[in-house]
Amino acid sequence: MPPPPINLYDLTRGELGQLLGRWGFSSVHAARLWNYLYLELADSLAAMPEVPAKVRARLAAETLIGRLPTALETDSADGFTRKYLLALADGERIETVLMRFTGRVTACVSSQVGCAMGCVFCATGQMGYTRHLTPGEIVAQAVHVARALRTVAGVADPGVQRKPGSATPATTIPRLRNVVLMGMGEPLHNYDAVMQAVDILRDSNGLALGAERITVSTVGVVPGILRLAAEKRPMHLAVSLHAATQEERAALVPAAKKWPLDELMAACRTYSTATGRRIFYEWTLIEGKNDSVENARAVGRLLQDLPAQVNLIPLNPTAGYGGAPTRSEAAKRFQQILAHEFALPSTVRQRRGIDIAAGCGQLAVAGG
Ligand code: SAH
Ligand code: SF4
Repeated sequence: MPPPPINLYDLTRGELGQLLGRWGFSSVHAARLWNYLYLELADSLAAMPEVPAKVRARLAAETLIGRLPTALETDSADGFTRKYLLALADGERIETVLMRFTGRVTACVSSQVGCAMGCVFCATGQMGYTRHLTPGEIVAQAVHVARALRTVAGVADPGVQRKPGSATPATTIPRLRNVVLMGMGEPLHNYDAVMQAVDILRDSNGLALGAERITVSTVGVVPGILRLAAEKRPMHLAVSLHAATQEERAALVPAAKKWPLDELMAACRTYSTATGRRIFYEWTLIEGKNDSVENARAVGRLLQDLPAQVNLIPLNPTAGYGGAPTRSEAAKRFQQILAHEFALPSTVRQRRGIDIAAGCGQLAVAGG
């Protein structure tokens, strides 16, 4: 049996060069191919006329371009969020979200099919774990969004000017500005694939999403955070906290039993010291559960001497969890305590897109 085809989206630019080099083709062809994949966003070899026919024939025989077809697509009523349910080759489905807040285009991408971490309020957690995504499946989600931008009207983005003489006509195409790994799955449970994908997304000759533009969100996988710290990976880190005591946190986030709060905070401190970066701490606001004045003071004390910003996310209700979102007055009070008593910056994430069930994993439940 021939080996399975290589997904071109799995490869860094260097690896693509090596592959073509092994086949005896010049690095010029590899560079052209890369440009077609990540600058032109071509999704077939037929759309790559400047790659010689003999190179294309070999590529056709041994590789594929793992684009992900859309199984379902939904817009939020306000038009700021478009959510895609994308089909993987084995029939599994994942969610990718295009967000256009404050004029910036952000892709929220998945790292796994389902999730093993079991957070009680999360639709993906309620699904359980099926499998890791490959690097190419993660990259393909960002490419999907970048490509979709060509057809989304009225994106408030300066865009990029295509060079005259490039394979597509000179036109202003809105640019993908940020990628957040906050879709389905736990990115640090799939560390190697996620970091390979990040390297591909960062490539300055490709999608060019630099260190400030990629955010990995973790439930608190301590060994992964320590590895990120040791490798000084250029990206932002978000840690899903949700509670400021071990007992309360373990009730919402079962993974806290494996990686207790004190170990998590020690790992966060190590990360911030090693990288000089502040961490975003995410806090899903659940009415009557973790939104009291005392809860706000507890998180303030916990993060007091760390470089931190708190991202408050009012709960998106899911079928498997009875909690309700914190009302906006209580969310404001929470924010004010953090600001006034602890000088801790925070944001309340706008609940745009809730009408299309934009909480992580919710479209896959509804449509999958
Ligand atoms: N597994 C990673 C990243 C994906 S979840 C993590 O847990 O960090 C991205 C964020 O959405 C996390 O902070 C998660 O706790 C939050 N989230 C999940 N389900 C939610 C829901 N129903 N309502 C509000 N926030 C939710
Ligand atoms: Fe997994 Fe994150 Fe959902 Fe928890 S919140 S179950 S870690 S995807």
